[in-house]
Amino acid sequence: MSVLILIDHADGHVKKASLEALTYGAAVAKQLGVPAAGLLLGTVTEDVAALGQYGISTVYQVANETFNTLDAQVYAKAITAAVGTTGATVVIFSHNQTGKAVAPRVSAALKAGLVAGAVALPDTASGFVVKKAVFSGKAFANVSVTSAIKVISVNPNSFKVEAVGGTAEVKALDVTPVAARVKVTAVNKVSGEVPLTEADIVVSAGRGLKGPENWGIVEDLAHVLHAALACSRPVADSHWRPHHEHVGQTGFQVAPNLYIAIGISGAIQHLAGVNRSKVMVVINKDPEAPFFKAADYGIVGDAFEVVPKLTAAIKQL
Ligand code: FAD
Repeated sequence: MSVLILIDHADGHVKKASLEALTYGAAVAKQLGVPAAGLLLGTVTEDVAALGQYGISTVYQVANETFNTLDAQVYAKAITAAVGTTGATVVIFSHNQTGKAVAPRVSAALKAGLVAGAVALPDTASGFVVKKAVFSGKAFANVSVTSAIKVISVNPNSFKVEAVGGTAEVKALDVTPVAARVKVTAVNKVSGEVPLTEADIVVSAGRGLKGPENWGIVEDLAHVLHAALACSRPVADSHWRPHHEHVGQTGFQVAPNLYIAIGISGAIQHLAGVNRSKVMVVINKDPEAPFFKAADYGIVGDAFEVVPKLTAAIKQL
C-alpha cells in the first residue's frame, strides 16, 4: 500500500497546484501509515529530490521527454502502468486542467472510485470518506470510496503547501509512452505576466470598463500586484479581451488568495468560477451590485477613479 501523487509541470517547472497535491498526499499517507511517493512524467529544471520537503519519501521519474507535453491519453496510460508497478492504492492529482483531464481516465482504467475536487483530508475512521465541493462550490458532498484503489483530485488552493524538510529518493521508472492519437502541431503561449490558474492574485474586469481601450488601468494594477488578468464572459465574447482570460461557469475556474473584481456585476455564472477565492474585493459604482454580497471587501465607486488611486497607493508600499 502506498500513496502516489502526480507531479504536474509546465515549461520545466513544477506547478504550485502540484505542491499542494504533494502536501495533501503526504498527509493522506501519514493518516494511513503508508509511504507517499511522487510520480514525475518527463523532466523539470528543478532539483527533483528537493520535492521530499513536501513529505514524500520517493520520486518515481519517467525521464522521457515525450511526457513534457501533456497528452491526457498518453499520461493516463503511463500513470495506470506506474500504479501497477509501484503498488499504489491511493492516487492523487491536483484538480487543475491536467487532473481534470487525466484523473477520470486513470480511475476508469483502474476501476477505481474517483473523488474529483476534494477539499479536505479523507475521514479514515469511518471507511474512506472524502469531502468535495459540488454545485460550483455552493454545497459539499461527503463521498465514501469503497474500491480497492482510490483516486482523488484536490481542489487548488484548498490545502496549504507545507514544506517539512527532507529530500526524496529519486528512482527511475521504466514506462514506455503509448503512441499518441493526436499530434500537437503548434503551441501558442498565452499573453500575460502570470498564468491565470496558477496565480496567487487575480485582477479581473467586466463590462463596467466600457471598452478594450480602457484596460490599461486594469493591467497597471495587475502589474504592481504581480497578478494574472481575468475578465467576465461578455468581455471575452465582445473580443475586448482574449477568451483565455474568461472566468466563470463556462470559463476558467480560479481559486487565488485574492480576487479583485472591477466593474463586474457578480452574476451567478461568474461567481461559479471565482467563489473559491480566499479573499474577494469588489469595485463597482452600483451599491446594489450582487457581487457585494459575496465580497469580503467592497469599494463603491467609479473604477476609473478608484483603480488608478489603488495602483498608486500600492506602488507607495
Ligand atoms: P454587467 O452585468 O453588464 O455588469 C457590469 C457592472 O459594471 C455593473 O454591475 C455596473 O454597475 C458596473 N459598472 C459600470 N460602470 C462602472 C464604473 N465606471 N465603475 C465601476 N463599476 C461600473 N459570465 C461570466 O462572467 N462567466 C461565465 O462563465 C458565464 N457563463 C455563463 C453561462 C450561461 C449559461 C449564461 C446564461 C451566462 C453566463 N455568463 C457568464 C454571463 C453572466 O450571466 C453575466 O451576464 C455576466 O457575468 C455579466 O458580465 P459583467 O458583470 O461584466 O457585465
